[in-house]
Amino acid sequence: MTLISFIKQLFAIKAPTVSVTVQITAPQVDEHLKKQCSEIGIPLEQPPVCPYCSTPLKKRPAKKTQCPSCREFMYVRTRPKDNMRVLVTKVQAETVDEQWRIVTGTQEAYLARQEEENRAKEEIRSRLQQKFGKEASERDVQWAYLNKQRLQHGLKNNWGLYRNTTFQMAEQVRKEKHLKTALALYLEVCFYDLNGPENRGGLDRNWLKEFPPFDLKSAFLAPAIVSWVEEISVQLKLSLEEVKGIFLEHNNKIYKGLAFLRAPEICWPLLQKELDKVIKNGENGQAS
Ligand SMILES: [Zn+2]
Repeated sequence: MTLISFIKQLFAIKAPTVSVTVQITAPQVDEHLKKQCSEIGIPLEQPPVCPYCSTPLKKRPAKKTQCPSCREFMYVRTRPKDNMRVLVTKVQAETVDEQWRIVTGTQEAYLARQEEENRAKEEIRSRLQQKFGKEASERDVQWAYLNKQRLQHGLKNNWGLYRNTTFQMAEQVRKEKHLKTALALYLEVCFYDLNGPENRGGLDRNWLKEFPPFDLKSAFLAPAIVSWVEEISVQLKLSLEEVKGIFLEHNNKIYKGLAFLRAPEICWPLLQKELDKVIKNGENGQAS
């Protein structure tokens, strides 16, 4: 089987943006920007209140948290104006993110990427419309877009990006409540992570010998993804043995075609160790 036909075969299963963390120590903020972002968010130093409904919060949120009163998601951001951590609404968080892009000079590239994404989605929309004779749903357009992205990342041996796109697909189906598919995709992401996916940007075969597509030095497990695996398993009333079965069955199909360093059988005990920790923490939390 060729790599292309193998990757295409992976798309038989049904539905990510690549996030880049920029470290900034001393932002160059001009007066205009200072004025523009003076009033965004509630500084976390003050007694914390929900930025939507102003309900006082028992705990100062350290990350995205749901308000216990209005159930809206509150976000934590650092303002470029004064480097202060603030609690904000989703819309305010987007504004702060934009301000950071302006401060770091990445806004133009961001807008260009957005434009490219919109163009690609429009193409997909009209293709789906022709195929099915009716307007395609946003969901179908997004899913087809992610599939296309994933294919492109795979063809270039960009397995870090491929992994990120798989994560976005898992997120999409989880939000759509297709929990079985979401679980299989989160387990697939864990399998990539435990193999250390690298981005090789289309290097040819000779270079790949020196810079392989997977490198165990980069292997890791993301706690948030392990938590999702645990949470969905509970929702689906699956035992750890059953989760193991899904992990092995789903990932063995993928393992056969690509240059992974660890087989699913080798990866599972590593994931199980982390799952055990999450389960134990949950039990301790309930007991206290
Ligand atoms: Zn609230």
